[in-house]
Amino acid sequence: MQEKSEKLFKRAQKFIPGGVNSPARAFNAVGGSPVFFDQADGSILIDVDGKQYIDYVGSWGPMILGHAYEPVIEAVQETAAKSTSFGAPTEIEVKMAELVKKMVPGVDKIRMVNSGTEACMSAIRVARGYTGKDKVIKFEGNYHGHGDSFLINAGSGALTLGTPSSPGVTEGTAKDTLTASFNDLNSVKKLLKEYEGEVAAIIIEPVTGNMGCIPPEEGFLAGLRELCDAHDVVLIFDEVMTGFRVAKGGAQQRYGVTADLVTYGKIIGAGLPVGAFGGKQEIMDVVSPVGDVYQAGTLSGNPLAMAAGYALLSELHKNPRHYDQLEEKTTYLYTGLKEVFADHEVPATINRVGSMISVFFTEQEVVDFETANTTDQEFFKAYFHAMLENGIYLPPSPFEALFLANSLTQELLDETIEAADKSVQHALE
Ligand code: PLP
Repeated sequence: MQEKSEKLFKRAQKFIPGGVNSPARAFNAVGGSPVFFDQADGSILIDVDGKQYIDYVGSWGPMILGHAYEPVIEAVQETAAKSTSFGAPTEIEVKMAELVKKMVPGVDKIRMVNSGTEACMSAIRVARGYTGKDKVIKFEGNYHGHGDSFLINAGSGALTLGTPSSPGVTEGTAKDTLTASFNDLNSVKKLLKEYEGEVAAIIIEPVTGNMGCIPPEEGFLAGLRELCDAHDVVLIFDEVMTGFRVAKGGAQQRYGVTADLVTYGKIIGAGLPVGAFGGKQEIMDVVSPVGDVYQAGTLSGNPLAMAAGYALLSELHKNPRHYDQLEEKTTYLYTGLKEVFADHEVPATINRVGSMISVFFTEQEVVDFETANTTDQEFFKAYFHAMLENGIYLPPSPFEALFLANSLTQELLDETIEAADKSVQHALE
């Protein structure tokens, strides 16, 4: 039992809603008390009770080279000594924009913000301002942060007009969000036909991470690109998870499809609060102060956050071998886990793209929201808690992707596969 974590959680619940500052941390999907952490190094986490875990959450993505990565720590310390914020331009913002442009296709200009949510909210405002149209198409099971326009449920069935999936989101906002099915071009075509001339943007997680890892099927992203061109719709890739992860140039590079706008978060800030949106010059030039689409932030481009992100991105840019190594390590884990589940005759579908990987406890191929939902959630809960007990920190939900870090060693991967073997056995008992 993690005594100190449990005590802290009780204290936290008195003054913080649900005891957490973001619901995904609360263990609601798996039950029990969340682990409170104290420190980390590479792929090893240490909680407040002193227990060690191998980390597969990586702060939900940013820690692609592991925790306490020396160049990031140094950059933050050096920068902090000079000032934590000026609210005025700094050189590191310029260097960061230049570096991102070198690393990813199609980003002529970029604007820094403070979270992935802000990046996605801003991107759709820009798309609306640029096209003069109101409606946005998103995909069932894709998450783009907690902006009102994105908290829209498709309901059951394929295509419906949006209805708010959170109290506080108005019907007025919801009516402008249309929902299509991931990997189903026809569902998009139907919406574009029904709302001809009204759709400003299509926003998508090109590899979905937020219903577990689901890759785009062959031709799906290219098909969206064609549809957007044909209907004057801005194609937005939400690369908050996939950016700088599934390839140096993100999903755009991996799948050879260039979006009009791209949003970033997570890795771009190396664990500090950063998001960004960028894209074609013609579209980005509608953003204030050049254009009249208003977008701003007191702490945007914050020196600490920029210094951290720049240190991490520079390393990824200079040494693309990180991506090859991540690919090898994730394939190794994939193969090991596949064997474990097969040995125990547990139905499991494992999806992987680069260093994102998810296990769905189902016999079905998982290609969209509906098939993701066939996963055995009760079995996941038992497996999750057994893994935690065995020192493996997984995302506490059956609908999340694991994010591997290049700090994972062969020994740690082997320990993980062994722990999975014990945990499956335990979950079956
Ligand atoms: N977009 C995607 C694909 C995400 O995974 C997330 C968060 O997990 C967001 C947007 C929102 O980012 P943030 O939590 O930084 O606001």
